[in-house]
Amino acid sequence: MEPRKEARTPRDTVARPHGVWTTPVRGAEEQWGGEDSPAAPSSDSEADCGSADGLWGLPVEQTARRPECGRCSRPQKVCLCPFLPVHPLHISTHLYIIQHPAEENKVLRTVPLLEACLPQDKCKVKIGRRFSEERDTELSTVCRKSGTLIFYPGAEATNLEEFILDSPVYPSTIIIIDGTWSQAKDIFYKNSLFRFPKQVQLKTTISSQYVIRMQPTNRCLSTLECAAVALSILEKNNSILETLLRPLQALCSFQLQHGAQIRLSKEYLLKNGLYPKPMPKNKRKLRKMELLMNSVKI
Ligand SMILES: [Zn+2]
Repeated sequence: MEPRKEARTPRDTVARPHGVWTTPVRGAEEQWGGEDSPAAPSSDSEADCGSADGLWGLPVEQTARRPECGRCSRPQKVCLCPFLPVHPLHISTHLYIIQHPAEENKVLRTVPLLEACLPQDKCKVKIGRRFSEERDTELSTVCRKSGTLIFYPGAEATNLEEFILDSPVYPSTIIIIDGTWSQAKDIFYKNSLFRFPKQVQLKTTISSQYVIRMQPTNRCLSTLECAAVALSILEKNNSILETLLRPLQALCSFQLQHGAQIRLSKEYLLKNGLYPKPMPKNKRKLRKMELLMNSVKI
């Protein structure tokens, strides 16, 4: 059985690691890699220690950490605050982001931008993979409320617009899972708490503008985009969509100007014979790829 990890709320308890932001802006996030701490000496270098007596006493040069903007969480030199609304948006909907722990350390994250646009009491980020009713009573209460929706696409999900029309209770809270598609699937299906809210999806025809991160299909949206579309529908205010997408567009535009490549969706690459990797041998994975090529919703 998997050890349970208590969920965390970044604003309260987590100091974000800074190590990944120590190098100048590069293209795609995969290029940034992990920590910039100096590698441990290999056995070969240890053999040279005799000739380097005294060097160990010298101060180790610390890799300079780029200061981070307190509002948008981007490095200060590439701060996106000019693209954020002056004041947090007025919304009545509460938003809970369930963030996979691996997402927290990614460089090009969209959730900090979303948080920066919304009032603090309306946007909460909970980090973890497993959420128990006992340990997270707040989330437990939220999930059991009749006005709470969880976004997870699939055959069981109702389109948000249709749900609003049919439901006697107007949605007051939405839950969005932040992670890769397989991480989101793991979180959604392995937490019984997420069976309580009504499962909804967005019937949107817009293509993701988060072009610097590969999505499975052209219609898969980033967490920020999903929240932007959902909030604009629930709040009946199209300007919310525009306001929330502005920093994302600025982020992508900046990254593209500094060498990032547009990441075409896996669906597009497969359909056009451009997928750079060999097809998987695992039959289940192969079937998924075939479904993607035929544009069947998975
Ligand atoms: Zn900023």
